[in-house]
Amino acid sequence: MFNAALNRIAKVQKLDIAILELQRRIDHLDPGRAATKARDETLEAFHQAESRLKAVRGELTDLELEQKKIEAKIKSENDRLYSGGVYNAKDADAIDREVKNLKARLGDIDARILELWEELPPAEEAAKTAEIDLAEKEAELSKYLEKYASVKAELEQKLAQLQEMRPKALEGADPSVLAKYERMRKAHGGIGLAKVDNDECEICRARVPKPLKDAILSGVDLETCEGCGRYLYIELS
Ligand SMILES: [Zn+2]
Repeated sequence: MFNAALNRIAKVQKLDIAILELQRRIDHLDPGRAATKARDETLEAFHQAESRLKAVRGELTDLELEQKKIEAKIKSENDRLYSGGVYNAKDADAIDREVKNLKARLGDIDARILELWEELPPAEEAAKTAEIDLAEKEAELSKYLEKYASVKAELEQKLAQLQEMRPKALEGADPSVLAKYERMRKAHGGIGLAKVDNDECEICRARVPKPLKDAILSGVDLETCEGCGRYLYIELS
């Protein structure tokens, strides 16, 4: 009786294994780890290139502004000196010193501005390249995610179909043997029954001696594999 009941449940197990396999495939789908990493790296590079460019442009703008202010200041100091409004030598010396200082500062600014004008084109080029790289990686990622979503949806649909089939597959199965099968499969990685195949357990390939085979066929009790511990059954044709 038990062997016949297990034969019946073996059909349920086939379905359960298919469900498990699909679930495993869904769980192992790669949600775009490599493509996301590549995108994140190019995003980081893009941000660096952008902030470098911003720094060069910002410094250039500030210095050009300061350059104009100093030039205006030199002009107004010189105007003051030569317009005849300064009457003593001490004041004239002070203005002279101030103009010298301003000119020295202007020289430094001019030199730095020249440097920045040289740094600007490569910084612009780097930012442009980084932007193109980023767009490329973004496109690759979204293409991957699209593919991933469609594969996942397809597998999930198949899984739902199999799960819908299960109640029907359970019809006519002995409830107490079914409960034992459920416990056994939980304890044994999703597979609770093993068919005897050429005097061996089909799962672990342990020998099934003749007395054990006879006991299984008698169906008096549930018999387990000496190797893996699963319930053994012999297929009835
Ligand atoms: Zn076994």
